[in-house]
Parts: sequence; C-alpha cells; structure tokens
Amino acid sequence: MNLIVDSISKSYPSAKGEPRLALAETSVTIGQGEFVCVVGPSGCGKSTMLMMMGGLLAPTSGQVRLGDKRVVRPPAGLSVVFQDYGRSLFPWMNVRRNLAIAGKAAKLSRAETAERVRAALAAVGLDAVENLYPWQMSGGMQQRTAIARALVVRPDVMLMDEPFAAVDAQTRADLEDLVLRVRHEYQMSVVFVTHDIDEAVYLGDRVLVMRANPGHLVSDLRIDLPRPRDQVRTKLEPRFAQLRSDIFRQIMRPAETTVQ
Ligand code: ADP
Ligand code: MG
Repeated sequence: MNLIVDSISKSYPSAKGEPRLALAETSVTIGQGEFVCVVGPSGCGKSTMLMMMGGLLAPTSGQVRLGDKRVVRPPAGLSVVFQDYGRSLFPWMNVRRNLAIAGKAAKLSRAETAERVRAALAAVGLDAVENLYPWQMSGGMQQRTAIARALVVRPDVMLMDEPFAAVDAQTRADLEDLVLRVRHEYQMSVVFVTHDIDEAVYLGDRVLVMRANPGHLVSDLRIDLPRPRDQVRTKLEPRFAQLRSDIFRQIMRPAETTVQ
C-alpha cells in the first residue's frame, strides 16, 4: 500500500498566539516496501511531517492517505518507533508483556498475539530475554524491544523518528542492520527520520532532504547502492561518498538558491 502525503502543511501557534508555519506545503509518496529516509537540520519539520504521516497530528491543510483511506488517526497497518525508547516501554511489564499489549490494542486473539510476539522477538534476536524488564536491559536492547513491539501488528508501514540517536556507534550499526533485515522479513515500507546523512544513505532506497524556516522538502534522491548493504563495504564505495556529499550540499547551500 502506498503512503501518500498530499499537499500537507502545518502551522503551530507561536508564543504570541498567531500561527507560525512549521512545514510548508509538502507532497510525497512512499511506495509499497520502500525504505525512505528523511534528513535535515533540527527544526526543519521532520517530526512534524512524520507525526502527520502516522495520523498522530492533524495537518493544517492537505491530507495523508494509506492506500485509498484517509489517515485521520493511527491506522491499523502502521507502527511508530520513537527515539525515546526508555519512555515508550512500560517499566512494570517484562519484554513479552510489553509486546503483547500491542496485540491487545489491535484486538488480536490471545493465541494470535502469543504467536506474533514470539515471531517478533525472534526477528530482533530477543527470544532469550522475554522475561526481562526494560530497566534490566541496555539501551540497544530496549530499542530492539520497541521495534519488536512495532512488528506485532505486522505493519505495512513503520515510521521511525531518530530511533538510534541515543545509542553508541557499534550498537547503532547493529540496529541499522537489524532494521534492514526486519524490513525485508516483514515486507514493509519504512520512513526513517535521522539527522545523520551517512545513516540515511546507508539505509535508504530514497533520501528526502529538508530545510528549515519554514520546513520544506528540497530534494528527493534515489539511493542506487546495491543490496544487501554492508557497514564496511557499502561505506567504502565511491558512490556512497558521492551521495553523501550531494546531500550535504543540499542541506548547506544558501537559502536563496533553494528551489522546489
Ligand atoms: P525536527 O523534527 O526536524 O527537529 P519539528 O517537526 O520538531 O522539527 O519542528 C519543526 C518546527 O515546529 C520547529 O520550529 C519547532 O520549534 C516547531 N514546533 C514543533 N512542535 C511544536 C509545537 N507543539 N508547538 C509549537 N511549535 C512546534
Ligand atoms: Mg524531530
């Protein structure tokens, strides 16, 4: 199913109360099974756009559709993973129960939920620790738990907002490869927000570049690097260096030369 962002914009009230444009009119289509990364500096509207894609925030104008259905609340086939995994898990529930509540929320039967929880834990390599509590685990394991929970509903689309910004470099590389694997296994589209250009190029089929004041899309680049990607080999390819410098220039170029 395509996720269609159709001419959405967002204004928030300023401190004085009048509307301030955070995201100028934006249109983009995320194709079935595509991995689309969104990069841009802090404040350029990445989270705002992602929350509107997920039906968590109403656009000021325009609309979002998943397939032919308008998104006005979080749809059944869509999961969201936030950066703040520590707070997105319930500390009084062990890993298995943290996942099972996603099945309950989706009104799956107990048996179906148990089966999907097992599969999701296996997919992220946490089957051995299902009885641990979040506070007994490292940041990387907590984030894997949050990803596994997102998988329980077998989403068509997974939205991720800077999910690995708070973990160390080695864990981050592991989590990147894990997301590539589960995306393949679950055949879902992923929209992945990051401010890290290398991460965007490494993961994506496409990279959307945004700039601020007000937030807007400046380019939509196809990442023609072969798959499967590899943390060492892919990043050594001349094409990788070329793409990252293209994106860097898109982000840095003077505002007056910006054209849609
Ligand atoms: P990013 O995720 O790229 O850092 P955001 O989408 O969080 O950007 O924010 C875009 C702009 O909208 C920023 O100027 C931010 O200050 C503003 N903004 C975000 N959320 C709100 C809010 N709830 N109320 C007022 N302004 C907001
Ligand atoms: Mg953000």
